[in-house]
Amino acid sequence: MKAEIISIGTELLLGEVTDTNASYLATQLLPLGIDLYWVSGVGDNQDRLVEVLKRAWQRSELILATGGLGPTGDDLTREAIAEMLGEKMEIEPSLERALRERFGRMGIEMPLSNLKQATIIPSAKPIPNAAGTAPGWWVERDGRLLLAMPGPPRELQEMWQKEVQPRLYQRSASIIVSRTIKTVGLNEAAVGELVSPLFSITNPTFGVYAKPDGIHLRLAAKAEDRKQAEEMIAESEVKIRAVLGDYIWGVDDDTLETVTGRLLVEKGLTLAVMEDSSGGWLAASISDIPESPSFFKGGLVACSNEAKVAFGVDAEIISRYGAVSPEVAQAMAEAVKTLLKADIGISTTGIKETRETPMGITYIGIADGSSSVAVGRARRKQMVISSALFELRKLLLSSEKK
Ligand code: ATP
Ligand code: MG
Repeated sequence: MKAEIISIGTELLLGEVTDTNASYLATQLLPLGIDLYWVSGVGDNQDRLVEVLKRAWQRSELILATGGLGPTGDDLTREAIAEMLGEKMEIEPSLERALRERFGRMGIEMPLSNLKQATIIPSAKPIPNAAGTAPGWWVERDGRLLLAMPGPPRELQEMWQKEVQPRLYQRSASIIVSRTIKTVGLNEAAVGELVSPLFSITNPTFGVYAKPDGIHLRLAAKAEDRKQAEEMIAESEVKIRAVLGDYIWGVDDDTLETVTGRLLVEKGLTLAVMEDSSGGWLAASISDIPESPSFFKGGLVACSNEAKVAFGVDAEIISRYGAVSPEVAQAMAEAVKTLLKADIGISTTGIKETRETPMGITYIGIADGSSSVAVGRARRKQMVISSALFELRKLLLSSEKK
């Protein structure tokens, strides 16, 4: 099925609001096996809206419009659809009743302007909106399907998930199942080279993407039913694991935070951090893990030598090796481990990526009592966090249960 998205609203054209609805819908179409051909944006102007809708009606089988369903004069989506199809808008009594009840529950009289949210045309059926006042329109005619949905992302997403996606899913002849495999330690080209001999170009397909937490490999299989597509993915995943092995740290929604968090809980180990160059980011991302209260003792931010010393780092080590050194990284990890009585201490110390030091460098220290290591990592803060968590995960995989 050929689809197109139309985002409606002058604020989108002014650059005041970023069009996240289109990208949301785009990600949603892929798994339904629907091919998206066009995305366009148009302001709150009826003539231009009709023009865009007409063109869409000619070239696409599925048209997804968002925005312009509100009560005000510049919300013109319904009017434009009615004009494009040459149909007349009428008030639908059941919609009017529901709308009045909704306002009644909020304890306010319904403004007259809201009445147009109760209108419909002969080819349209209303789509319930659980999160707002404006119902959508499900318009079907001449082998075309046009869906008008609200602009506010929360309303759109709720309507999509509850009402639209299930109905489209039932209709689609093929579905796509995808799986993302996440790696750290190899670069994009290396992952591509290792994996590409495993795949034909058509189905399943794969894409390689560089992300802050490593290289992601995205597999997509198209089949007539979900089970078949899932089997194709499972088969491919086995082959990929055979070549990428230990470089893989997670799949799909896994984050380095959640996988390392899970390991810490499993092993019953506690963690403490002391950060210089990551300035608290590492502690912040660890504390975002839902299970963190059970293993995270806390974090210290030590941006000066005085702070490092106050937190237990030997001043002698700093003056001998310099604050940005593997030795100090190690000493920081050991100091915070001792100070906060944790099983594992982690640290970061480095020079920021600036114009003068374009590569930056950060050393990550990890101390678990029996050993302490320091690894050097260049590059950005997000990568420092990912590397620290990746090193921690490595250590946890090889360590014993407490
Ligand atoms: P309302 O009843 O709130 O007026 P509506 O269906 O008429 O809803 P719009 O008036 O077009 O929708 O947009 C309302 C708000 O929703 C916008 O100000 C904007 O914040 C957000 N919005 C609209 N379209 C988009 C979009 N494509 N991407 C992200 N946000 C959007
Ligand atoms: Mg509006």
